Amino acid sequence: MSLLTEEHEEIRTAVRKFTEEEVVPIAQALDTRNEEIPQEIIKQMAELGYFGLIFPDEYDGVGLDYISMAIVAEELSRGWLSVGSVMTRSIITGTLLLAHGTDEQKQRWLPGIARGEIMTAAAFTEPDSGSDTGSMKLRAKKKGDGYVLSGEKMWVTFANRAHILTVLARTDPDPKSRHRGLSIFLVEKEPGETIDHPNIQGEPIPTVGYHGMRSYSLSFDECFVPAENLISLEENKGFYQLMATYESARIQTASRAVGVAQAAFEAALKYSKERHQFGQPISNFQAIRMKLSEMASKIEAARQLVYYASSMKDSGKRCDLEAGMAKVIAAEMVEYVTREAMQVFGGYGYSKEYPVERFWRDGRVISLFEGTTEIQHEVIARRLLEQ
Ligand SMILES: Cc1cc2nc3c(=O)[nH]c(=O)nc-3n(C[C@H](O)[C@H](O)[C@H](O)COP(=O)(O)OP(=O)(O)OC[C@H]3O[C@@H](n4cnc5c(N)ncnc54)[C@H](O)[C@@H]3O)c2cc1C
Repeated sequence: MSLLTEEHEEIRTAVRKFTEEEVVPIAQALDTRNEEIPQEIIKQMAELGYFGLIFPDEYDGVGLDYISMAIVAEELSRGWLSVGSVMTRSIITGTLLLAHGTDEQKQRWLPGIARGEIMTAAAFTEPDSGSDTGSMKLRAKKKGDGYVLSGEKMWVTFANRAHILTVLARTDPDPKSRHRGLSIFLVEKEPGETIDHPNIQGEPIPTVGYHGMRSYSLSFDECFVPAENLISLEENKGFYQLMATYESARIQTASRAVGVAQAAFEAALKYSKERHQFGQPISNFQAIRMKLSEMASKIEAARQLVYYASSMKDSGKRCDLEAGMAKVIAAEMVEYVTREAMQVFGGYGYSKEYPVERFWRDGRVISLFEGTTEIQHEVIARRLLEQ
């Protein structure tokens, strides 16, 4: 039995139309010039409700289920990974607020996030702390009616264009407190082309792919944050609060991988029928047919796992295991599929003439963020060994 309803298929048709009309025509050129997603695209996504899909109506969200979110992320990423990724940040901050924000915090920020008027960025990783969250050093010290933040963050994607940086900071100075000494602050700033805050300096990190959004290294120097911007108004709960976001962010990330892979597969399928060698289309060759079959099979397997994890989330069940599995399988799958798609294109696949090289570069990042593949395996194995 399919997990998808008629409404889900209608959502897919609508997002696909938006992607085909607005995203596909500009993605390759902007990626090649390393330019960011146009504001107009973000505005349209906001109008279509993409930033508020899973948030309740009372906070101006659309109140849809996680399967719908997965479909939207998949279809947008089919056009350009970056476009499917802008909403990840809103999902993280919005989910945090919904699960742990005070009533006042929810009223203040959630409707703006859901309407796509308040853009956010996640500032968790540091130069010396990636997978090991408990070793984070950026310090938040109590001062007057707030806190001052000092330290470094790394890989803060979309930091320049965000109105809010969602910052994981150390409120307990004792490093032995590890993950028990962390808190989450919402740091407000002006969005812009560069980092615009008197106490935060930032530089974009040049990357292989995932263009369209810039990832920043940030330096906080005595950056004041009012106490009311501490999530739940409680210190040292940040690590546990962050866990509320893991399942949805991993489902969303796995969906992005499915979207990129689908785009690569469709390009390869089309090309295999058009390209002739030895007097016939290359789709006649068994080696190429095997590739197409393997690609399509692997994509469908990952997609169905994403929908299964989403349906578990929709039914309110714990799904860290399934979301982790979906993320691992989708990350592996997208690297395989984009590599094989490039192979179908032969030498042309390595040129900038076709977007298949972008899919290959973009697909590579999935196993690195939102928990590396190695960390996901650790999470999965821990759950399996518990049972
Ligand atoms: C393009 C891009 C965008 C990003 N955007 C954001 C963002 O918006 N916000 C944000 O906060 N972060 C972001 N990140 C950071 C990303 O989440 C981290 O890179 C990731 O968590 C891994 O951390 P690390 O790079 O420090 O690697 P490390 O943690 O140093 O890991 C290095 C290697 O060791 C492995 N390893 C580490 N610990 C273990 C273990 N216990 N067992 C087995 N293997 C282990 C890892 O899997 C990896 O292979 C982004 C990264 C990239 C590349």
